Amino acid sequence: MTNDSTPNATVETINGFHLVINALKLNDIDTIFALPGIPITDLTRMAQGEGMRVISFRHEQHAGNAAAAAGFLTQKPGICLTVSAPGFLNGLTALSNATVNCFPMILISGSSEREIVDLQQGDYEEMDQLAIAKPLCKAAFRVLHAQDIGVGIARAIRAALSGRPGGVYLDLPAKLFSQTMERLEGLSSLIKVVDPAPRQIPAPDSVTRALDLLKDAKRPLIILGKGAAYAQADAAIRELVEKSGVPYLPMSMAKGLLPDTHALSASAARSFVLAEADVVMLVGARLNWLLSHGKGKTWGAPNQKQFIQIDIEPKEIDSNVAIAAPLIGDIGSCVDALVAGMGSNWAHPPADWTTAIIQRKEKNLTKMAATLALNPVPMNFHSALAVVRTIVTDRPDIILVNEGANTLDFTRSIVDMYQPRKRLDVGTWGIMGIGMGFAVAAAVTTNKPVLAIEGDSAFGFSGMEVETICRYNLPVCVVVFNNNGVYGGMDVNKSGGADVAPTVFVKGARYDKIIEAFGGVGVHATTPQELNKAIVEALNSGRPTLINAVIDESAGTESGRITQLNPQTIAKNI
Ligand code: ADP
Repeated sequence: MTNDSTPNATVETINGFHLVINALKLNDIDTIFALPGIPITDLTRMAQGEGMRVISFRHEQHAGNAAAAAGFLTQKPGICLTVSAPGFLNGLTALSNATVNCFPMILISGSSEREIVDLQQGDYEEMDQLAIAKPLCKAAFRVLHAQDIGVGIARAIRAALSGRPGGVYLDLPAKLFSQTMERLEGLSSLIKVVDPAPRQIPAPDSVTRALDLLKDAKRPLIILGKGAAYAQADAAIRELVEKSGVPYLPMSMAKGLLPDTHALSASAARSFVLAEADVVMLVGARLNWLLSHGKGKTWGAPNQKQFIQIDIEPKEIDSNVAIAAPLIGDIGSCVDALVAGMGSNWAHPPADWTTAIIQRKEKNLTKMAATLALNPVPMNFHSALAVVRTIVTDRPDIILVNEGANTLDFTRSIVDMYQPRKRLDVGTWGIMGIGMGFAVAAAVTTNKPVLAIEGDSAFGFSGMEVETICRYNLPVCVVVFNNNGVYGGMDVNKSGGADVAPTVFVKGARYDKIIEAFGGVGVHATTPQELNKAIVEALNSGRPTLINAVIDESAGTESGRITQLNPQTIAKNI
């Protein structure tokens, strides 16, 4: 019956291509982010033929970023499919980034023949991909025989989703795809993974320890991280915050878990609460560089703080500072246990703490409102983002993708989010280049409009994927904040030579023209009014749009808010 039957076969057979597709479908995976080529071109065609959505990219890094974002948004591993050696390497940055960010994804790459690779005899795209991938992801597997495809895919799914989620590499040599098996035997060798991310209930004594600490706190604070956003325990987290009455800070991708306008949000008093809090409860957030490793000036007087940390990964505990009350388990189970343990008479934190936070917030929000109300010519980050801020307030369901330096920092602090998992950004590494891949994944997996706020430098890493956005007619509106360069366009060549400075781009570039080449809508916006009109029209029409938003080239600072990490700044401070 099938076109995969071998000639002269007396029994129906199934080949490696179809076993891979069936194994993915059996596990409810319906989308592949790919870049076709030898040896996986037919896999993309056949997957599409069998009803999977195959989104084909222009560069594997963006297919990989899309898979990672899809994993974060759906709690299913996003699949990135690439060719061998160079394609595989292009996908690795995304695989590694997914792992660092705890996003579940599987990079599936075709590879050359083992016999030739292992003897280094110079095969087409020869590379020992498995060995290279291993240290860069959570797990790596290779399948050599068709009868092991089911096991290989099951192991990859379980490794990506269980415990701390992450990236998994699956190596599929070219020869595997043409191997055949008796069809029924092949199909019955496939595995539907049961309960790939089992609940992990925290130990009761760890719950009591955490509650005892929280109860005695005079200035408690909750920090919500993107692990909390990933966990999809939104109602439980809201209950924890509201029942405890503890002010909270959302990390960047946890914004919107509760609306940023929530009375207990301490975002507008961030420095104050980090320095002053006496007990800090981390919920799916690591004490890495983004939180100054839990020590130093940011955290106020030394040894004044005690930490409670909820995490699924026991090894995370004590990684930077002592954790007084670790709570190991999945966030939903841990938060449910805390809420249950609080009983009905839980006392809210002392009023002097919450009042002090409210006063700080009001002061800072008033200051920000005054800055946002200014209307300089040309636009600066604030006046352009005042537009975006209002649009997101009116359309809280849109997904905001955000990368850049100043563009990232200002957007994060100015644009309030109202719903969970609506903000996707550069994450733990502060990586540039996630923009278009994340935007495609957000549109494909949610069918919601996507607004990508991009620095002009950041956009350059993935800009060619606007063709992908147009090809699939995705409801993505890209806004390029164009200030003529990396950080800005004012830098000069210190030698006085003819070349522009390394951070400066072509002045007055028209990024909007790029999308027009592919049939999308390009808009050149120089005022907040023009910007507002263009974004609103894009969101209403759902048409792929790219807005070139002209920003003052002297606005912003070197490295945005992480200037302190620049070697020249470090040198000055020594
Ligand atoms: P942020 O950058 O927002 O601070 P991080 O990526 O540093 O967040 O931290 C996310 C943490 O959440 C990781 O330590 C990860 O192990 C944890 N995590 C992810 N998913 C879950 C889950 N379902 N339950 C508990 N912890 C989780």
